[in-house]
Amino acid sequence: MSPFLDLPPLTAAQFAATEDKVAALLHTTADVIVTQGEALLPLEAAIRGAAHPGSTALNIVTGPYGQTFGNWLRDCGAKVVDLAVPFDTAVSGAQVAEALAADPSIDFVSLVHAEAATGNTNPVAEIAAAVRAHGALLMLDAVASVAAEPLLTDAWGVDLCVIGGQKAMGGPAGVSAVSVSARAWERIAANPAAPRHSYLSLLDWKERWTDAGRTALPHAPAQLEMLALDACLDRIAADGLPTVIARHRAAAAATRAGVRALGTLDPFVPDDAHAAPVATTLRTPAGLAAAGLAAELLRLDPTLPVQAGGGALARTMLRVNHYGPAAALTPVRATLTALATATGTDAGPALTAADTAWGEALTAGR
Ligand SMILES: *Cc1c(COP(=O)(O)O)cnc(C)c1O
Repeated sequence: MSPFLDLPPLTAAQFAATEDKVAALLHTTADVIVTQGEALLPLEAAIRGAAHPGSTALNIVTGPYGQTFGNWLRDCGAKVVDLAVPFDTAVSGAQVAEALAADPSIDFVSLVHAEAATGNTNPVAEIAAAVRAHGALLMLDAVASVAAEPLLTDAWGVDLCVIGGQKAMGGPAGVSAVSVSARAWERIAANPAAPRHSYLSLLDWKERWTDAGRTALPHAPAQLEMLALDACLDRIAADGLPTVIARHRAAAAATRAGVRALGTLDPFVPDDAHAAPVATTLRTPAGLAAAGLAAELLRLDPTLPVQAGGGALARTMLRVNHYGPAAALTPVRATLTALATATGTDAGPALTAADTAWGEALTAGR
């Protein structure tokens, strides 16, 4: 019999246990709600819960998702201050502090931790400190950073932390989670425009599930996705979160070192400190379209974790993902070998550089 058929309904106890595992992964004692949908669902729910006419949001734009958040915030009637930096860098705590000082009415800040689409990552600890000092709420999109780099929700002071299972966690898409601090609950409860009796309502979950003692589920959850998420959380716990994080960091370091040794493509994010461990983005040389290169690489080896950038970036950006099982030396070496073949260069120096960087990154993390 297929293990995917005739499944008994997921119990409230199982659902609550998975939420607790997510809370441990996020280093938070705040309420965690697992949401039945892709990560954009809790991200939109968090914004619509917190933003309203009369509120002012600082929307930090370091990649494509920041633009989406700005649109939702404006749709909620909030005044939006956009702080945008080029997608191949990171925003600094000082830049955020300056933007906050310029507008004392800012009461909400939206930030993406790591950007899988552009390969950059932001220094959340220093940004969160600035937000905290200002007294605003901080929403963090940690979909691409969770399990790839440290994510200290409570220690940093993140009020709304959103994750999905399908990137560095190596788990299922279509199921996601958000942690909600006590301060965030107060603000959402006081917002007359916060969604109620809606799929986007965090308050519905709080009343009907969290505050009700998590004994009766308000709906029938998607069993397969929940079981897959739970299995993925168990696997990360068994491997050890620091080990999983170190593998992502080492995969990115090895890819960057290998590509630099190849010499035909450049890291899209030039500064190593701004490079996301979840995915390494590469700038293709003029005349070599990234979409065509990605197709050629996949023809050489269909298992490679590569894709062209989204939208206009499909011309100039190649993405090497280090998601979950791809955070290993073998797929990095295979990618470099195919890149050497596709661009007519010798793979030898790239592989040597990658091996060295992989070893150094793992040792540095100890
Ligand atoms: C992938 C990703 C998302 C979207 O996740 P979905 O589950 O596809 O909605 C949001 N933010 C970031 C930073 C991502 O990398």
